[in-house]
Amino acid sequence: MSLSLMSFLPAIDRGLKNMRAECDYRACHNKQFLRSIPGSRPGIRVGSLWYCSVDCFAFALRAPFSRVSSRRIVEIPRNPRLSLGLVLHAKGYLTAEQLRVATAQSQRHGEELADTVIRLGMANEKQIAAARSAQWGYPALAQDYMGKMIQADLPRTILQACSAAPLHYSASAKRILLGFVSRVEHSLLESIEQMTGCRVEPCFITPTDFEEQMERLTSFPDYEEIAVHDPGTPEKMARTVGRAAVDVRAREALFTQYKDLVWARILGKRGKVDVIFRVNQAVEEAKAQKSEIFYEPTSNLG
Ligand SMILES: [Zn+2]
Repeated sequence: MSLSLMSFLPAIDRGLKNMRAECDYRACHNKQFLRSIPGSRPGIRVGSLWYCSVDCFAFALRAPFSRVSSRRIVEIPRNPRLSLGLVLHAKGYLTAEQLRVATAQSQRHGEELADTVIRLGMANEKQIAAARSAQWGYPALAQDYMGKMIQADLPRTILQACSAAPLHYSASAKRILLGFVSRVEHSLLESIEQMTGCRVEPCFITPTDFEEQMERLTSFPDYEEIAVHDPGTPEKMARTVGRAAVDVRAREALFTQYKDLVWARILGKRGKVDVIFRVNQAVEEAKAQKSEIFYEPTSNLG
């Protein structure tokens, strides 16, 4: 029996492809292998695709990994309408003269306005977080949650990349409260919701809160993160994920991308592992892909 979430969806939603009982790796030698045989190996499910073995799964991974490795990701990030400087001024934290000086200095030094304002001692971190909250329309500093230890199955590599720290994680309520330092990354919210099945609520925290909260963050006992800074060829990436799939006796895999980080989540009988690849071709200001690397027609795989 498959333990994947897909098995709880009505058959019609899974598409006609799933009516076929064969492995979705085109070159699979195991054409006769039916997933419906009682007691048979359950294979690995990736969205609407199904692979009869780790071998087929890893072979099929090479094509999408090769696409994400060679593609430059350029998207314009969503920005709030009001600038941080104007909000700081509107809230009375900066005078018009301070705003003028800070703006000029931040431009001259190629520095974020918030950093300039802090450096010049014109406002403090909490004021900046309050201004960002007003700017983006999300709450600031969920004080009720600060200072508590937290367990989560979220990759630190990705949290560090967007300066976001989980303040609350309830698997039963399917809710994550995520504190951002400088900007709310909507693509990250989507990626985390997709990977965890939890609703993610953003808020703003200070850089100090972020550092402290990351210290308080521990992993669920059955969770492991593998960060790969030099992923190598698509074949090597596929082998890395294949090894992780063997380790946890994979049943299901999920894939998403955030900026230049490819996030593969493998769920198995022995736990859960996130493999994070840093794909170097992506540009600094790039944003996550909307599409999931695997949710493409079968004909492109294998
Ligand atoms: Zn196969």
